[in-house]
Amino acid sequence: MKILIASAEVHPFSKTGGLADMAAALGKSLAAEGHEVGIVTPLYQGIREKFPNLEQLDYSVNAPMNGVWENAGIASLNYRENLNIYFIDHPAYYDRPALYGENNTEYLDNPRRFVFFAKAVTHFARYYHWQPDIVHVHDWQAGLVPVFMKHQSQSEGWVAPRSVLTIHNLAYQGHYERDRAFDLTNLPEEFYNLDGIEFHDGVNCLKAAIVYSDAITTVSPRYAREICTMTYGCSLDPILRERQQQLTGILNGVDYEDWNTTDNAHLNHHYSSRMMKGKLANKHDLQEEMGLPQSDQPLFGVVSRLVDQKGADIIIGALMELITSGMQFVLLGSGDPELERAFNDLQKKYPRNMAVHIGFDLGLSHRIEAGSDYFLMPSRFEPCGLNQMYSLRYGTLPIVRRTGGLDDSVIDPTDDIETANGIKFNEFAVRALAKAMKKALVLYDNPKLFRKMRLNAMNADFSWSRTCKEYERVYESVLS
Ligand code: ADP
Repeated sequence: MKILIASAEVHPFSKTGGLADMAAALGKSLAAEGHEVGIVTPLYQGIREKFPNLEQLDYSVNAPMNGVWENAGIASLNYRENLNIYFIDHPAYYDRPALYGENNTEYLDNPRRFVFFAKAVTHFARYYHWQPDIVHVHDWQAGLVPVFMKHQSQSEGWVAPRSVLTIHNLAYQGHYERDRAFDLTNLPEEFYNLDGIEFHDGVNCLKAAIVYSDAITTVSPRYAREICTMTYGCSLDPILRERQQQLTGILNGVDYEDWNTTDNAHLNHHYSSRMMKGKLANKHDLQEEMGLPQSDQPLFGVVSRLVDQKGADIIIGALMELITSGMQFVLLGSGDPELERAFNDLQKKYPRNMAVHIGFDLGLSHRIEAGSDYFLMPSRFEPCGLNQMYSLRYGTLPIVRRTGGLDDSVIDPTDDIETANGIKFNEFAVRALAKAMKKALVLYDNPKLFRKMRLNAMNADFSWSRTCKEYERVYESVLS
């Protein structure tokens, strides 16, 4: 099959979260299966400098933006066999210090930037000499692509490719007032209604994709069920229930080429389930790097966007209760300034037990995964979550709330003592997380069980070959 993946983030070119890892890994694994794959994404600041092999194509895309035609070049990179990356080169929109905004404020022209992105993808799918069978769009930033494809096939007789949407996080919808977005789409008025792209007096890019895609996937089976309920549906649950027949939950895989402990440039000490010495050496290095004493106490790690979803507030509550009861804690993250401040304040109070690094640092994220004993993910909701799966491979037992992909990928001793590889709790509350962390402290003093769970964790397999097969089945179903 020929598959064009459209994503606003692709590792290693751009990343704010799991979307980047998934889009890249999906492309790589489909290409490895012999499919012809293109990934189309914006050319953000710095990419050209970091990847000097980028080739400017003798080809451009154009699109009307509220009546004014705009052009963008395409830079391309032959990334590996069967996989090309196509970058939409429109400096006024994408050559900026950040992907979506700065200082916790979205760029004001995000509707314009991503309406244009969706138009550019549609133009590319329609006119470039390489013609995809499937256009697979990810999240709201590419959400208008299926609508533009539908419109152009209805009004201009284009036999468009089939479209598939993957929802990585229903909470981000690209919902803009009508006057900031609708005219830019140049769509006829009949698309702007409650059965179309309209949502609460505005344009909702994710809703548009849910309505107009041929198939919808999300990134874990449990999240696929959750988003059809009022609690997790972010107001789109009625529309998702209407399309439930076309909705599949597919657990993300892990790119073990990047996320492994045996051949990893970010780690000073390599280790595996058969040779664990390096794990302790990584812990000591991490303690030193973060300015903590080299104690034998269990080390709890967090790598996360600091936003409401991730439960950083209950981590702070649980730390206030437990930080002096024989543990250490390290955090890498950034986001909500109040949460950043709260972690920093707590660290100042307990400098021998806590270390906080505010920022985004790929190398440190690997070293925290490798050097910690436990990894905390007490999310309010979690579509898939990748860090708990990275933790498993790094022999770092995840402590997670039973929600979304966290529930689908971690096994608690009460689920099955033989295969247990982490600790789960139900209630979103400080007391529930603190109780789970206390269990972890007790488990740490039971080396036999701790070692067994660690081995179970490291042997768990979330490789992409399984995930890839499930996506192939979705593509086949929309093509047949
Ligand atoms: P989400 O996509 O909701 O942020 P995921 O767990 O699916 O959550 O993926 C998060 C990805 O982003 C992981 O690869 C994680 O290591 C990475 N990440 C998050 N915050 C940081 C940070 N501050 N520095 C480095 N990597 C980070």
